[in-house]
Amino acid sequence: MNLKGQTALITGAGRGIGKTIAAKFAKLGSDLAIVDMNPISNNVLREIEQNGTKCLSYQLDVTDVDEVDSVVKKIIDETGGIHILVNNAGITQDNLFMRMKPEQWLQVIDVNLNGVFHVTKAVIRTMVKQHSGRIVNISSVVGFSGNPGQVNYSSTKSGLIGFTKSLSREVGTRGITVNAVAPGFINTSMTQALNENQQQAILSQIPLGRMGEAEDIANAVAFLTSDEASYITGTVLHVNGGMY
Ligand code: NAD
Repeated sequence: MNLKGQTALITGAGRGIGKTIAAKFAKLGSDLAIVDMNPISNNVLREIEQNGTKCLSYQLDVTDVDEVDSVVKKIIDETGGIHILVNNAGITQDNLFMRMKPEQWLQVIDVNLNGVFHVTKAVIRTMVKQHSGRIVNISSVVGFSGNPGQVNYSSTKSGLIGFTKSLSREVGTRGITVNAVAPGFINTSMTQALNENQQQAILSQIPLGRMGEAEDIANAVAFLTSDEASYITGTVLHVNGGMY
């Protein structure tokens, strides 16, 4: 696989899966624009740039539509276009449904679904003009299986599948593919927040007997953005060790 000559925008790339996708893309020769609501550390930038790729970075909250428009415009002005978009930024606010507060519902919808809408809306025009583009949305196994305590989160991750499939049908003739990757339980700060009992319960459901690594997701995302995947659109790649 080779992503030379491409510019990729990755959201939530300051750590975890997003950061690892950025590092993988850099190894494959892509230039990068990475955004995160928290400041992106110099270590992350150094790790990416050691591959000789250009990397722009911005502190950006994907729920802020005006800021999203302004940052995407800056990236396009600097780079000439965006060829790959990875909608990775996401949050959890877990609680059993009976106890879930309206704010917990709304915040998770705002980042995981509205954020994807704002960023994709800002980017899609440039992809249509280029007559090419790759969009990958990061969903989750719990969008398919459901999970107690995650009615809000799993709703957004299923919602992203409808988003992916519908948009793929709208923009296919413009040379743009839209796919989703649905990770299982991946070793990042999101899952390190689970207690030992919760982690053991999850492990017992994974036929491959281990949590996934962020690299497992980055490899799948890289494939879907490569030339090798040019005839794949509107689909979901499950990367979950067989748990679903
Ligand atoms: P993480 O919490 O380590 O990283 C998420 C990043 O997104 C953080 O850097 C955070 O600052 C950023 N972010 C959060 N809200 C944002 C906002 N409003 N605007 C911009 N950036 C924002 O999580 P992760 O495990 O790396 O998860 C990445 C994606 O993968 C998420 O969409 C998550 O739902 C999904 N996912 C993770 C797992 C897992 O097991 N870790 C499983 C399935 C799906």
